[in-house]
Amino acid sequence: MTDVTAGQQPAEIRFDEHFSGLDDGVEHLRQMILARQEAERCVAAAEQAVLAMVDGAVRVGGTLEDPVMKNVLRRLHYRIRFFPSAALARTLGFINKNGVANVQAMARQLGPAAAEEPCTACGKTILTYSGSGATDDLCPKCRKAVKDEYFQQAAARWEPRNSRHEHIQRGTVTALVADWRVAAALVLAYPPATTERDHPDTGWTWAQYEHARATERHLATLLPEDCADLPMDTAAPLLAAAQVAADWHPGRACSITEHLTERSPTAILTQLKTAVTRRRRELEAEALVLHPDLPDPADTRPTGALLVADGTERQS
Ligand SMILES: [Zn+2]
Repeated sequence: MTDVTAGQQPAEIRFDEHFSGLDDGVEHLRQMILARQEAERCVAAAEQAVLAMVDGAVRVGGTLEDPVMKNVLRRLHYRIRFFPSAALARTLGFINKNGVANVQAMARQLGPAAAEEPCTACGKTILTYSGSGATDDLCPKCRKAVKDEYFQQAAARWEPRNSRHEHIQRGTVTALVADWRVAAALVLAYPPATTERDHPDTGWTWAQYEHARATERHLATLLPEDCADLPMDTAAPLLAAAQVAADWHPGRACSITEHLTERSPTAILTQLKTAVTRRRRELEAEALVLHPDLPDPADTRPTGALLVADGTERQS
């Protein structure tokens, strides 16, 4: 290689000499491509010759019920790795309604074969319908056992989260009956089917309305100056809906609630929201102590191979 870092001029390269062998190289490449095409034609013809034998047997009445036919076809599908199972299935008439060779249907008719490697867990023979050998290193029973264990572990990992969520939702928020009534009255002022607000975009639903009505009924027997405990899963959605209603018509919000309180509905909602937020934090902290996460079971996770679908059609 010419050293240009030393300040010398690079020696002149004779490119005509450099490429003097190019024509021979290109010619060799051309011949090799022709040879490959010829080899591919020969492979196709050889494949066709084998398939023609199968086809001939089928034409004279050979079926998979015949033991010799069955043996031959099992050998071709399961033991001759380089033989295209799709072409074999097609020759035997296993074609699905889209005109695609149905290798699985053929393999079911042929019956399973023993895979070369036994199950790595129990050592039993793995039966396979795949012409390319077992697609798994476990027998179906062991694979199911590992999968079941994985799903049990996944469920167990979710369990503390579910329990925490339940603990928070069941926890109660304490506030004045009068204040809860203000929130319910704001929601009940807008029945979804009777207002222009009844539109999917606003999220104003009958479920919210019915919840507010149930809450109002629940509070009916209590005195306004009493305190009432509402479960978090009632209080939080009620307040969210009440805030939406209050924001629609702030002026109307005051007239809706004036028979219940002298205070402004906005101030009451703000106070209730503060109570809900504070209570939620308390419940979250309690829930974390009561239902902590399990240690990360990273080392018990099954291998990726187990989650791969059990493909039985070999590539051809
Ligand atoms: Zn096994």
